[in-house]
Amino acid sequence: MDDVLLDKAVKAINASAHTTAFTGAGISVESGIPPFRGPGGLWNKYNPETLDIDFFNEYPLESWKVIKEIFYDFFSSAKPNMAHHALAHLEEKALLSAIITQNIDNLHQAAGSKKVIEYHGNSQKLICPHCNNKFKPDELNLNDLPPRCQADNSVLKPDFVFFGEPIPGMAHILSKEESQSAEVFLLIGTTGEVMPAAMVPRLAKDRGASIIEINPKESLYTKDITDIFLQGKATEIMEEIVTRIG
Ligand code: NAD
Repeated sequence: MDDVLLDKAVKAINASAHTTAFTGAGISVESGIPPFRGPGGLWNKYNPETLDIDFFNEYPLESWKVIKEIFYDFFSSAKPNMAHHALAHLEEKALLSAIITQNIDNLHQAAGSKKVIEYHGNSQKLICPHCNNKFKPDELNLNDLPPRCQADNSVLKPDFVFFGEPIPGMAHILSKEESQSAEVFLLIGTTGEVMPAAMVPRLAKDRGASIIEINPKESLYTKDITDIFLQGKATEIMEEIVTRIG
């Protein structure tokens, strides 16, 4: 851990009138949820096509078998880690305005964060595409697939963004507002490869934000827009930041 860079980051956060965090799958790795890409990534085991909206509409049962295994059997036991808690703590101290997350695991909310912009939706809700009824996973029997709407028997869809689907309008608007207002933008555990999410930090940079990045590995942002690169795991770096802030 680079002491000088950490102090620089803490100074920037303390001096900033508006700090926004932008998180990706990396922040949840230490909660036991693997990212999609890279070593140990979910795409080494599953076919990404199962999360394509056209595939889901045509083969809902095939799609649901994979969705259940990844997002319900597996995600449901995950707990927020130190990095999620640290962001909630910064918000409580009025040092963080909002989190824009690409994650769908609900762990920021579970850690107590209040303003969470869910860029890719949330796995903890299932929606009926016809009547818009919403269900929580534990209200349904997910051993009987595909789950169906109790009102009209339509196949339910998890309320997250599938490949080929647009970003929810409100999330798009709010994240644009955040990136235009931010003085400091904290990037945690994201490759910068997933579009259009990857453009959000670039907009913040264009509007003059300082970019602080936390990642064990360089991302597409590091050499391009990052001002302070804190190389390491999200839990360790965020714990150190919160300790130094006090
Ligand atoms: P991503 O852009 O989210 O990349 C993951 C990044 O995390 C990589 O840069 C990696 O170096 C970094 N990382 C790994 N361990 C880390 C750690 N301990 N601390 C900090 N950073 C760490 O790419 P993806 O995994 O391909 O995900 C694609 C999309 O799917 C994204 O929108 C992602 O948020 C979503 N996704 C969400 C979850 C979840 O909800 N937990 C899980 C998988 C994927």
